[in-house]
Amino acid sequence: MNDPLSLYRERARQWLANTAPKYSGQARHGLSFEQDLRLARAWQMLKAQAGFACITLPARYGGAGGTELEKVVFSEEEMRYDLPLNYFSISLNNPLPIFLRYAPEHWKQRLAPATVRGELLWCQLFSEPAAGSDLASLRLKAEPVEGGWQLNGQKVWTSWAQIADWGVVVARSDSSLPKHAGLTYFFLDMKSPGITVQPIRRLGDEKDLNEVFFNDVFIPDEQRLGEINGGFRVAVETLMIERYAVTDESGYGPTLERFIELAANSRLNGMPALADGEVRARIAQVFVERQGLRAIHRSALEAFAQGKAPGPEGAIRKLLLGRTRQQLGAAAMDLMGSQGLRLDPESHAVNDFVRAWLDPSLRIAGGTDELLLNTLAERVLGMPQDHRPDKGLPFNSPAS
Ligand SMILES: Cc1cc2nc3c(=O)[nH]c(=O)nc-3n(C[C@H](O)[C@H](O)[C@H](O)COP(=O)(O)OP(=O)(O)OC[C@H]3O[C@@H](n4cnc5c(N)ncnc54)[C@H](O)[C@@H]3O)c2cc1C
Repeated sequence: MNDPLSLYRERARQWLANTAPKYSGQARHGLSFEQDLRLARAWQMLKAQAGFACITLPARYGGAGGTELEKVVFSEEEMRYDLPLNYFSISLNNPLPIFLRYAPEHWKQRLAPATVRGELLWCQLFSEPAAGSDLASLRLKAEPVEGGWQLNGQKVWTSWAQIADWGVVVARSDSSLPKHAGLTYFFLDMKSPGITVQPIRRLGDEKDLNEVFFNDVFIPDEQRLGEINGGFRVAVETLMIERYAVTDESGYGPTLERFIELAANSRLNGMPALADGEVRARIAQVFVERQGLRAIHRSALEAFAQGKAPGPEGAIRKLLLGRTRQQLGAAAMDLMGSQGLRLDPESHAVNDFVRAWLDPSLRIAGGTDELLLNTLAERVLGMPQDHRPDKGLPFNSPAS
């Protein structure tokens, strides 16, 4: 096939085949956190030089000036390798594009190219102990002071805050307004006086999550993104950018093919596991689901090709991919016997069945399973909205 997209895919494949092995798989084995992060920065720099980093961003900010489809295609090919992409995925997919939409020009020129090259890293400070799915309930306080704002309070589940140079943050600037109306959005230097980052220890010892405390943190007003009290809209826009990060199931492994391989090499009740009726039924079910997901993926690609945004049915993909990853992990562990009890500390949920079972983060971050079901009920099936008892009430009213 000689259409431009197939040629682009072929060029990406060739480039990855020549470069990715030195930064992925075995090359990462035995590395400390700091060494793996250094490798990730080097990979990001290499992509930026080759025009494969931040493909849709304008070239003047360090991007490649390409299309959404090219971004999806490159991402699909890149995910076939076990590259250290996790440190930069939030930084480049959410904070950077929203910063470029709203920040003053001199700030964009100062921070964007270095971010694309992987020299600067951003985090996203949205969730709080009492505000996750219902983001508009957040309580971090922003008070106007001379020349800017003073922030006090706490964020939680902030990925990579411990290594972030910059962050985007939403805070409550007016609690006398209804909850969605009193929020303001900023970008801030994570080394500002008054910020304390504390790691959260996870079951599988992943080192991504943190709590972040704000104690009289000053943010100049020119670092406000959007209107005063207009922050909720900017926050939703930030999350919508993430929803468009569509790829096929390559980034959500372990693959069904690996499960079949495992079943072919395992024994169950004295027979090859692949001959077992229950194992075969599970394989068939996952296969059928993945065919359906491919159809949704194809229609998202067609929407991109026509310059449109994919529809809310994308929620089905995340729901099924997240669930299947854990279910397939559990089924694989059954076949693995005592080996299934061993957690390889260097494994990743995309290529290791034990970690895939143990790590439910895909079913929580970016919208929990239940919230995705709500989206499907309301926006795909047209069912009535959830009851919202605090709708329109001031945030500081006792009933809110
Ligand atoms: C790996 C990981 C990385 C993350 N990184 C970041 C980050 O970088 N920055 C950031 O700001 N946040 C981050 N988060 C936080 C994430 O956005 C929240 O965990 C998520 O929004 C859910 O919020 P919550 O944990 O407060 O759960 P809650 O919203 O308190 O939900 C608890 C339970 O109640 C259910 N529930 C809630 N509301 C409804 C409803 N209306 N109908 C039905 N059921 C409902 C949920 O589905 C869930 O089962 C991360 C989370 C994870 C797991």
